Amino acid sequence: MRPIRAEVSLSALRHNYRFAKSCAPHAKAFAVVKANAYGHGLDRAVRALPDADGFATLELESAIRLRELGVEQPILMLEGFFEPDELRIFAENDLWTSVHADEQIDQLAQAELERPLHVFAKMNSGMNRLGFAPAKFRAAVERLAVLPQVASITLMTHFSSSDEPGGIDEPMRRFREATLGLDYPVSLSNSAATIDHRDAHGAWVRPGIMLYGATPFTDRGAARIGLKPAMRLTSQLIAIQDLQPGDGVGYGLGFRAEQSMRIGIVACGYADGYPRIARTGTPVAVDGEITRTVGRVSMDMLAVDLANIRTAHIGSSVELWGDLVPVDEVAKGAGTVGYELLCAVAPRVPTQDVA
Ligand SMILES: *Cc1c(COP(=O)(O)O)cnc(C)c1O
Repeated sequence: MRPIRAEVSLSALRHNYRFAKSCAPHAKAFAVVKANAYGHGLDRAVRALPDADGFATLELESAIRLRELGVEQPILMLEGFFEPDELRIFAENDLWTSVHADEQIDQLAQAELERPLHVFAKMNSGMNRLGFAPAKFRAAVERLAVLPQVASITLMTHFSSSDEPGGIDEPMRRFREATLGLDYPVSLSNSAATIDHRDAHGAWVRPGIMLYGATPFTDRGAARIGLKPAMRLTSQLIAIQDLQPGDGVGYGLGFRAEQSMRIGIVACGYADGYPRIARTGTPVAVDGEITRTVGRVSMDMLAVDLANIRTAHIGSSVELWGDLVPVDEVAKGAGTVGYELLCAVAPRVPTQDVA
């Protein structure tokens, strides 16, 4: 069997959720488990966090799966319902819904539901993705407030730049102004705001990436924040090559040896979710020692520099990311963020729990 594996640490997930709770001691915290728990496995996230205050997702199948797994806590649907037909399923499963557009209010008003829904009314605080414009927010909330289909209202927004110093100042000013005098609980914070912005915690925080032990910040690593990586992507060396000066590596011979050197071939490629655009020099660990990738990542393999790894042999363990190599450092080598790499681990990679 190909040696690539994704190991997911349940205790790291628990640690990170507790850490999020300690950042926001007066709020409840949805564990954000969209995108198959950011690639970690929805079932596994539920097993790791049986006592989470709630879960947040946006795929209807995964919300139903949460109920099948016995989750009794609130489940927030971050983008709400996409079609009016789904409202029946929302009510049956007691799913809390975000409402971000007038069309959704119209559909809700026309629905016959077996029970009223808890609604998170979403304001656009500047990101211009989802949500009512500040000037229209109050009217939307007032419309919702009188609907028999609505059980409760929470006011919600999502920040565009909570990872930057001062990045929530203007969105918070808009939110406060638009909601002045509206007496409802609020939900504002993703991971970055949960960690950095105490004044934005409100009733419910919505940490995602931090639960998985990756950083929401560009300038602050996960370890420095106190997070533990939940996923280790591991494989093994399946070949070793000795290069002479001038020899190339991989498709296009994108890397050339300047002196004689030894490289290892790892059973991991872009079809496993390792980014093809990761450049030469992206960190990787072999036998517990940090080294670098060399040459272009191919579909099923990539090459690593073994110059300083004397123990290396066929079968040597390789960590693509995890405890030794932060996923965020690999992401930097590929010009992206840890989020994207975690979510992109391919279905062909077997995943397993570790305590
Ligand atoms: C994904 C998402 C979150 C979680 O964001 P992180 O940066 O991963 O913490 C929170 N709120 C909403 C609306 C989201 O879509």
